[in-house]
Amino acid sequence: MDYDEVMGLEITLKVGCPNNCDYCPQGILQSRYRGPREFTLESFRRCIEQGQVPVRRNLTFMGAGEPLLCRDAVPIIRWATLERGHQGSLSTTLRGATREMVDGLTGMPFTDTIIHVPDALGEMHFNPDDAWCDVFEYAIGRWRRHRHFVISVYGPPHPRVAPIWERSGVPFVNFGLHDRSGLVPQGATHQHLQPSTRPVPVPLCGKMFCGHLFPNGELYRCCSDYALENCWGNLNETTYLDCYRGQAFRDYMQSLTDPSADPRCRHCNDGYHSINPEDRGKTYENPCPRDGEE
Ligand code: SF4
Ligand code: SF4
Repeated sequence: MDYDEVMGLEITLKVGCPNNCDYCPQGILQSRYRGPREFTLESFRRCIEQGQVPVRRNLTFMGAGEPLLCRDAVPIIRWATLERGHQGSLSTTLRGATREMVDGLTGMPFTDTIIHVPDALGEMHFNPDDAWCDVFEYAIGRWRRHRHFVISVYGPPHPRVAPIWERSGVPFVNFGLHDRSGLVPQGATHQHLQPSTRPVPVPLCGKMFCGHLFPNGELYRCCSDYALENCWGNLNETTYLDCYRGQAFRDYMQSLTDPSADPRCRHCNDGYHSINPEDRGKTYENPCPRDGEE
């Protein structure tokens, strides 16, 4: 993934990730989330079409849970990219995936494709079995020519993963961990996650203008909003652009400039993301798209 890569609308296809990684605040999400646990093709299409999500907005299929555990994941991703015309990106642990699903996602117009694999320390709570290893090796073969194909791990790879990865010749990548804007509790195995307090005004970040969509239609701040603190609206009731014209979003952006406020972005150590070209004219004072801009 390039650091100047386009930012996308983050999509959680299914709430409740059984991987339950030690560095992921799944607990707070599951205690707060209300509504359908997963998208269907029909409910996803309704959100995207009635919400008038601009086709130029990338869609990032990962969000706050393993996307391929959603029963309609493949038809949803194919519809969004091949029929509606979005570019997309996929980050998956392949948990629940089959060879047929891998085939169904081969050749998609993804800006990047990431396989996030289990580690040797057990911070991802998933023991890869024979079926998973078979799909992992198969996916490498099918997806390795995708643009920006990456295998990533936090820490050393699981001993069942390492030989397959080494055999593939795909370089090792260890993305830096971040603490989901202060939401990951300090624990025994990830004490290296340092909390962050950023200066005011908090620098603008590309993810501020993209959002994070959940199966109930609600649009939240970004992929770090596991606590569901900043909701800009519901795409079953309003449009995507109107979410960004609303008072909740305006107030949040103003709070980034206020030394007495404590917006969650102040506690983010992942806020360096480049701003998409269509968002570059936006400011703290005027963060909403003008009519006809997108
Ligand atoms: S980090 Fe990803 S794979 Fe791990 S529990 Fe969170 S959403 Fe699931
Ligand atoms: S600064 Fe961090 S919390 Fe704020 S939008 Fe960017 S990634 Fe999300």
